Amino acid sequence: MTDSLENWRRTHYSDKVKKELKGEDIILMGWVHEIRDLGGIIFVLLRDRDGIMQITAPSKKISPKLFEDIKKLKKEAVIAVKGIVQESPKAPNGVEIIPEEIKFLNGSKLPLPLDTTGNVHAEIDTRLDSRYLDLRKQNVSAIFKIKSRMFHSIRKFLEEKDYREINTPKLVASATEGGTELFPITYFEKEAFLGQSPQLYKQMMMASGFDKVFEIAPIFRAEEHDTLRHLNEAISIDLETAFTDHEDAMEILEELIQRAIQDVKEHCGDALKTLEVDLKVPEIPFPRVDYDDVVDIVTSKGVLMNYGEDLSRAAEKAMGEVMDGYYFITGWPTAIKPFYVMPGSEDPEKSCAFDLMYKDLEISSGAMRIHNYDLLVQQMKDKGLNPDSFETYLQAFRYGMPPHSGWGVGAERFTMSITGVKNIRETVLFPRDRRRLTP
Ligand code: ATP
Ligand code: MG
Repeated sequence: MTDSLENWRRTHYSDKVKKELKGEDIILMGWVHEIRDLGGIIFVLLRDRDGIMQITAPSKKISPKLFEDIKKLKKEAVIAVKGIVQESPKAPNGVEIIPEEIKFLNGSKLPLPLDTTGNVHAEIDTRLDSRYLDLRKQNVSAIFKIKSRMFHSIRKFLEEKDYREINTPKLVASATEGGTELFPITYFEKEAFLGQSPQLYKQMMMASGFDKVFEIAPIFRAEEHDTLRHLNEAISIDLETAFTDHEDAMEILEELIQRAIQDVKEHCGDALKTLEVDLKVPEIPFPRVDYDDVVDIVTSKGVLMNYGEDLSRAAEKAMGEVMDGYYFITGWPTAIKPFYVMPGSEDPEKSCAFDLMYKDLEISSGAMRIHNYDLLVQQMKDKGLNPDSFETYLQAFRYGMPPHSGWGVGAERFTMSITGVKNIRETVLFPRDRRRLTP
């Protein structure tokens, strides 16, 4: 038999219950984290979103009926407790609750498919199979508190900078870069794809006169390989600014990264502590390392890298050994960057593209883009793409396209760099990877 909620509402989350509330009547709601029955006294640890509170039930101080009800509680049952705050030096938060009334809102089947205390090790696959339970763990939930705050700070920062948030379609007719990383879908009688990047739409928006736009939305990539850094569905934080070049794009990016980290440090102290992360706010400007120097550094570390190659995993790792925090790689060869990247004005072989790295992890790619129609068509041809299949995109370059630049940040990669988790799956509620489509 379960109780109904009636007019009970939570008055506090556990972490807000401090000594100052001594003697007050409060209502907590959450799950039975642990229960210890010592005969004459029962300790229940109630867990809610923000913490854990000890409910102390001494048989001598509470009614026999209440004592019996508490005795019957089982792990992960959903309860509401009305009680008085009492100081208790031995309790985890220095306070405990002496219950006056309790509501049993729902039970939980036992045994649980997954331990929720974090005391029993479980493999990531087992954890993801029962993700809703896994997310009850404080060290897992902490990652999402931080990720949520990160998005909040980014939106706040971009609002201050007068950017407009936009939404572009995710059902698209053709590839962004003509790549193979596309998920085909059936769109009535046509073939279509899930969008791998808002790149082309962001650029068309530059011809709209919106000037400063950003989008936070999913990207879908049919990455065949199974790595700790790739997902098949990720969230991309994309930004594009008219009348700017790649230097401007790097400046706003490093400022955004710094501000988001500062904000997370300020507002997620407890989550960072749970994760044992000593978060450092990076100084700006971030170091800029030219691609030519990257080749030298990587080679000096004994890793084979020829000029004109993208960074292999081994090359990224070699860079991570030399560079400790966030840094840009600039001066990329035009040949290995996408067709829409502007070639350098002095040396067209070197492009106006950059990557933002955190140690050995790519966080973002960006560039000044080509705004000249003829050059854009030429670049497509040079890269073996057929301009005809980009017709609607190309049209936008015929009627007054301003110079522009921008970037895309992988939200999960950025979260990895803040939280220090090594597997990108840790930063997604319900990850999609090569083998996983449920839950
Ligand atoms: P990588 O070389 O690491 O596979 P990429 O160069 O293919 O990444 P971009 O097309 O430059 O990726 O996308 C911009 C950003 O989006 C990347 O820097 C990364 O942060 C993020 N990103 C791209 N693909 C993925 C993915 N499969 N899973 C998670 N994040 C991704
Ligand atoms: Mg990239």
